[in-house]
Amino acid sequence: MNNEILTALVEKYGSPLYVYNVNKIETQFQRICTAFSTVKNLKINYAVKANSNISILKYFNSLKAGIDTVSIQEVQLGLAAGFKPEDIIYTPNGVSLHEIEKVAELGVQINIDNLSILEQFGYHYPKVPVCVRINPHIMAGGNRNISVGHIDSKFGISIHQVPHIKRVVENTGMHINGIHMHTGSDILDIDVFLAATEILFNTAKEFKNIDFIDFGSGFKVPYKEGDISTNIEELGEKLSIRFNDFCKEYGKNLTLMFEPGKFLVSDAGCFLANVNVVKQTTSTVFAGIDSGFNHLIRPMFYDSYHHIHNISNPNGRERYYSVVGYICETDSFGSNRRINEIREGDILCFNNAGAYCFTMASNYNSRYRPAEVMVYNGKDYLIRKQENFDDLIRNQISVDLSK
Ligand SMILES: *Cc1c(COP(=O)(O)O)cnc(C)c1O
Repeated sequence: MNNEILTALVEKYGSPLYVYNVNKIETQFQRICTAFSTVKNLKINYAVKANSNISILKYFNSLKAGIDTVSIQEVQLGLAAGFKPEDIIYTPNGVSLHEIEKVAELGVQINIDNLSILEQFGYHYPKVPVCVRINPHIMAGGNRNISVGHIDSKFGISIHQVPHIKRVVENTGMHINGIHMHTGSDILDIDVFLAATEILFNTAKEFKNIDFIDFGSGFKVPYKEGDISTNIEELGEKLSIRFNDFCKEYGKNLTLMFEPGKFLVSDAGCFLANVNVVKQTTSTVFAGIDSGFNHLIRPMFYDSYHHIHNISNPNGRERYYSVVGYICETDSFGSNRRINEIREGDILCFNNAGAYCFTMASNYNSRYRPAEVMVYNGKDYLIRKQENFDDLIRNQISVDLSK
């Protein structure tokens, strides 16, 4: 979207503001479908935690996507958005058996990632088919906090414990209908990913009557110049052939599933904020905006890079800035950034703000969470109002101990 459109949206809806370009979501979704077009049964389950606005979910429903959920509340959001229970997979980590039972009662596909719960669930509900999340111990990417398939990760049942899974299945009479992995967010190398898929194929052979194999996500999109992005077309070409061969070997047309979040929505979003102050110190120039890590925590939390540009002065002379927030502690969006000259009142645009940005927002410093807008075919739709004071105190109970 061009600078004029974005500026007009800030004028219309206020600052700060999240804007999602739905046409970009559509393009990314179609890229996956096209890359895997030779696979007969393909199911893309959008990972709700990346961006859980109900209007975004409804859009994915219209694309005939399913959803991947990690909490019963995300399941409920999905149902409210119109997804059928059979189009929802629930992949929790460390939640109670009670919550898993509640989700199973809704008719949603359960994906279990530890032996203790598998055994208890199988004992109580031998008739409910269950998918198992396997940890193939593939180290995908370099960031330990983001990659979740390596040896000391808390996610999944170790590939070395498959004999134990089979024992649980025998003892309880339960039915394993799917095999799942999600190795993490940093697939840099398609061959590493394909090595992990071989491990899943081998695991799948251990179970007699599965319906699907879920390869999770890990698709990378570029955040800055020079970043590697997953070559989905190459992955599709290689994995489709292998998957179709495996189905023959297995003797059944299985469904191939993925559950991308970031790949589908990250680049579709941008975050817009006004510059409150430009402050020259002895060492740097700070641009302070009307937002902070309460609205976009990834730079502070993961040291993530979000490209920042000045849409109010796109032809201004480039200078170096530290862009900071208004939260009363270290609150930086990026330091030493080359940006077109920033003046007070300018609007800065943060790229790749469609995934894990609003969903991680909080009310820290008693600030309101911002509005969200989606744009589709040139039309804009407000999909979340900015919060107000009533929202801040809604669940607070005012107890006065002096009375
Ligand atoms: C978060 C998550 C995803 C999505 O990961 P992205 O990196 O956003 O694609 C997929 N599956 C599971 C189980 C997840 O927890």
